[in-house]
Amino acid sequence: MEIFKTKAALKAFLKPLKASGKKIALVPTMGALHNGHISLIKVAQQNADIIICSIFVNPTQFTDPKDLEKYPRPIEHDLAMLQDAGCNGVFMPNVEEMYPAGADEKWHIDLGNAEFLLEGAFRKGHYQGVTQIVKKLFDAVEPDVAMFGQKDFQQVLMIKNMLAHFNLPITIITCPIIREDDGLAMSSRNIHLTLEDRKHSLVLSKSLQFVLDHFDEYTLAELETKAKALYDGIDGVALDYFTIANGDTLEPAKSKAEDNLVALVAAKVGSTRLIDNMIIK
Ligand code: AMP
Repeated sequence: MEIFKTKAALKAFLKPLKASGKKIALVPTMGALHNGHISLIKVAQQNADIIICSIFVNPTQFTDPKDLEKYPRPIEHDLAMLQDAGCNGVFMPNVEEMYPAGADEKWHIDLGNAEFLLEGAFRKGHYQGVTQIVKKLFDAVEPDVAMFGQKDFQQVLMIKNMLAHFNLPITIITCPIIREDDGLAMSSRNIHLTLEDRKHSLVLSKSLQFVLDHFDEYTLAELETKAKALYDGIDGVALDYFTIANGDTLEPAKSKAEDNLVALVAAKVGSTRLIDNMIIK
């Protein structure tokens, strides 16, 4: 497995591979890898010849400087996981390499109204930062395909909108959410959960599953009310939103007959903010 710190070294590695017709996949991550990330590498291997994983904690997508500071960076562990998974190359640039003009580099593109809903409402400018770095990573790798997790449902939508904006010829593959045995969606942030938080965090997946299990029984409003009620009285858990939304627009679903519905949730569990979702149909 090759490790690259600069775009130039990465491009030099990829050039002959591309010339010989190899299909390149990019798996962008912020590191602190878990089996969710590795599942993306596995899907990438089924869809391409050469797999590049990027590890970059992108400062422009953090709205809370404390969140950026405490983001885990277990690099040796990450490299060992990628090596085991059979990843071909790791791109781990520093901030100057990605933002030579400084991390306050201007970027603003039209991502549509969904940018401002849900996560976008709680983390102002988050998706500008996300699409800014993903565009830079796409420019560095020029992959044929890129893998993203459904875990960040809104992010996939925003990246697809960015791709359309620049008319980039890259196929986006959305990979299923990998969960712990008890249902908690894997996340780099889960290590911040205390033992108590860890128990309480199960309400996220349970409330989403409730909607899936009872979708035919109740109205949309009833489903939301009942799912939200599951959070009542759980110590240290504060719901940011729980919504049943149209999967294309992220606007609240108007009818159960809509053909692309997803339940999405964000909640603070102790001091850790978690997100999760389940596709209804
Ligand atoms: P992150 O390092 O959190 O930015 O995540 C990198 C990629 O891994 C993103 O496309 C995420 O959606 C994806 N990912 C994160 N957690 C999971 C999970 N539990 N299952 C599947 N993919 C995930």
